[in-house]
Amino acid sequence: MKKINGISIQTDEQLLSKICNVMTDGNTIKKLDVKMRMAMLGGLKSKAVGLANNQTTLCGGHWRMFAMRSTKHGLITFVNPVIKLSGKKISHTHGCLSLKKEYKNEWYNEVEIYSDTEFEPWGSRGKFHFTGYESIVVQHEMDHLNGILINKKQKELI
Ligand SMILES: [Zn+2]
Repeated sequence: MKKINGISIQTDEQLLSKICNVMTDGNTIKKLDVKMRMAMLGGLKSKAVGLANNQTTLCGGHWRMFAMRSTKHGLITFVNPVIKLSGKKISHTHGCLSLKKEYKNEWYNEVEIYSDTEFEPWGSRGKFHFTGYESIVVQHEMDHLNGILINKKQKELI
């Protein structure tokens, strides 16, 4: 665990490799949505474009939820998201709040993401389409929810 401006960030790779649970409790979702947004807007500020729940200890830190910043949509959260990948693969090097180094990986250039709309008005609703860098952010955060870190991703592809 490390602290970034008062926000606790998980660095234990064994804990980070666990698959997150689907959220079904409306009250937890509401609480978590506020806490994740506060973490992104507060301590993390420009330090993070994305934050998966299991990188934090918020509400237990094992839920299928992440927050990200998008140029078009601003700060958005996704609850129990499902993604569909398309387009060509692109190579990109970037880091992660939970790791020390940067890693080069292959990513899809386009992604559609469907967030759970059952728990309105919490979480961001409906279908979103991202390309380029923001598509990579979505894939990076989805990987977190599935217990995959960027330092292990290359091995997953081989
Ligand atoms: Zn990360």
